[in-house]
Amino acid sequence: MTVVQERRRSAARRRWWVDGLEASVWLVAATGIALMIASGGVSYASSAPDWWYACGRAFGIVAAVLMMAQVLLASRAPWVERAMGHDRAIATHTRLGKFAIVLLVIHLVIMTTVTATYDGRGVVQQVLAWPDYGWWMLAALVAATAFVVVLVTSLTAVRLRLPYERWHGVHLAVYIGVALAVPHQFLEGSTFRSGGLAWWFWAVLWMVSIGSFVVFRLLRPLLLHTRHRLEVESVTPHPDGSTTVTIHGRNLARLRARGGQFFLWRFLAPGLTWQAHPYSISAAAGERLRITAKASGDGSAALRHVSPGTRVMVEGPLGIFTHAHRTRESLLLVAAGIGITPVRAMLEEAAPGEDITVVVRARSRDEAPLLDEVEALAAERDVALHVIVGPRGDTWGSRAHPASITDFAPHPGETDVYICGPRAWAREVEADAAAAGVASDAIHREEFGW
Ligand SMILES: Cc1cc2nc3c(=O)[nH]c(=O)nc-3n(C[C@H](O)[C@H](O)[C@H](O)COP(=O)(O)OP(=O)(O)OC[C@H]3O[C@@H](n4cnc5c(N)ncnc54)[C@H](O)[C@@H]3O)c2cc1C
Repeated sequence: MTVVQERRRSAARRRWWVDGLEASVWLVAATGIALMIASGGVSYASSAPDWWYACGRAFGIVAAVLMMAQVLLASRAPWVERAMGHDRAIATHTRLGKFAIVLLVIHLVIMTTVTATYDGRGVVQQVLAWPDYGWWMLAALVAATAFVVVLVTSLTAVRLRLPYERWHGVHLAVYIGVALAVPHQFLEGSTFRSGGLAWWFWAVLWMVSIGSFVVFRLLRPLLLHTRHRLEVESVTPHPDGSTTVTIHGRNLARLRARGGQFFLWRFLAPGLTWQAHPYSISAAAGERLRITAKASGDGSAALRHVSPGTRVMVEGPLGIFTHAHRTRESLLLVAAGIGITPVRAMLEEAAPGEDITVVVRARSRDEAPLLDEVEALAAERDVALHVIVGPRGDTWGSRAHPASITDFAPHPGETDVYICGPRAWAREVEADAAAAGVASDAIHREEFGW
């Protein structure tokens, strides 16, 4: 089998895996509803409130399954990350999360209204009466409030006004909400209380999703911390305002980081300990990893003041912007600004004699970080390098040098295009690549944002 056939096979396997993961969410939701019906969930229904009650339970079941999927997608479990990639996993997490919260609110409204009807109370009295059913109902009410706060702060218009750290801090309430909501499922929901198959079905699902979160978000970073003992070796500020930080540690080969991947980095220095930021590896060799960061806000600007010897915690490696995810024979790497970091690392990993072209777009040479390194690597590997500098024009190139994918990829159908740079620019390159005939599974875009 040729290399290209092997690449296409693994791409097809990944697609199957992703489709399978997405389909299994709905299959699990359908099974949950089937178990509810099998345990007599609709047999009693003889009036309109009864049917509403059954619907309310079904909404709760689907919302619970979506919540589990959401926790799993954000757990950074390697089998999710490798198949979907971090971007797609987080985008799906966001989409499902909003939907799950809306379903939870519907569940709460229906259950409250129908129970109030059954018991001859007003809706407000029913809300106040829920805690009398047991501590788990009070916990569920607190969870519902947390979910609504997270939903509101996640609406794009609100989110963009909040600093990332504040938004992320509020967002963590969703996990507290999940922990508070689960007990009422088992202690109040009659499907769960009945024990047997349904009980085990839900218990195993929650154990897998919450367990993945605890293992990969909490325990693994601690394990990596003790195993690799990462520490800042040197900090080099660049004239364009970016900073390169070299980190050394032990047994780094065991991390199996690939050029183009990124880690979430937490520098254990005053003011930085409580924030973890994603930065791509700009170089990796032996017992060293290196990042290059542009000062985009407080956290990235503070990197130039980090002292050598500072301990570093990481989560990762993450991301599928790597050679392993290529699907075609030729490779075109297109970078702008600080988007050069993963492209530089991928170029360094390129096998000799491969058909690779690199395009770097910058406002000026002085504002192009790592360009000298990319030039040296390209010369060493006999890779065609095009540097497009100057103010913006009508294309993703400069005013003086309009650019089109077909200028750099004579056989678009046989080329993988990797794009990393500012969002609007990267979207332009992506649209140009698609219009030129690059296949959708051969376009790889890394976004440096959330
Ligand atoms: C996969 C990936 C790889 C990246 N690689 C690099 C790189 O190699 N070099 C580089 O200079 N930048 C990189 N970035 C961008 C970098 O993470 C942000 O510039 C940095 O986190 C900004 O933090 P701040 O505190 O300085 O700014 P803030 O003011 O806190 O944030 C500025 C903007 O950065 C983004 N951001 C902040 N924190 C995060 C976070 N934890 N997760 C996602 N986005 C965040 C948000 O869009 C925010 O609006 C990468 C981003 C991602 C998602």
